[in-house]
Amino acid sequence: MTACIFCKIIEGSIPSATIYEDEHVLAFMDIMPVTKGHVLLIPKKHHENVYELTEEESSRLFSVVPKIANALKDEFKPAGMNLLQNNGASAGQAVFHFHLHFIPRYDETDGFQPTFITQEWESSAERIQEIAAGIRVKLKN
Ligand code: AMP
Ligand code: ZN
Repeated sequence: MTACIFCKIIEGSIPSATIYEDEHVLAFMDIMPVTKGHVLLIPKKHHENVYELTEEESSRLFSVVPKIANALKDEFKPAGMNLLQNNGASAGQAVFHFHLHFIPRYDETDGFQPTFITQEWESSAERIQEIAAGIRVKLKN
């Protein structure tokens, strides 16, 4: 018996408010929604995080993303929507089965506050080129 709470949802041993299911993925309502319509999309195969997903699993999962986003848009008429995906405890991951959050946004007072604060020490054009070069090397491996 699995200890993973999302695998238990897939097995049906704990309940969820499912909105979409196919052979490979499941989407259900987050039990502690940060805004109205907060949904999670998961692969049925247990993978802890993004590093473990195969290209095939990832393309199957992301192929349903526009469908789910548009259903949320039609149902709730949000002003915007954040897609969020946490990997590792230090990135805020609490459930270690890959999941993508859909967070419809209503206005600046909807309570969800993602912030992007530019780090001056890494933001010169030269430094950004240097960082990109390092990543390109890894992508060739
Ligand atoms: P994260 O911090 O990215 O790992 O997010 C985990 C999310 O899973 C949180 O938003 C939780 O509210 C949600 N969650 C935990 N347990 C359940 C559950 N049984 N059903 C639905 N959502 C859950
Ligand atoms: Zn799992």
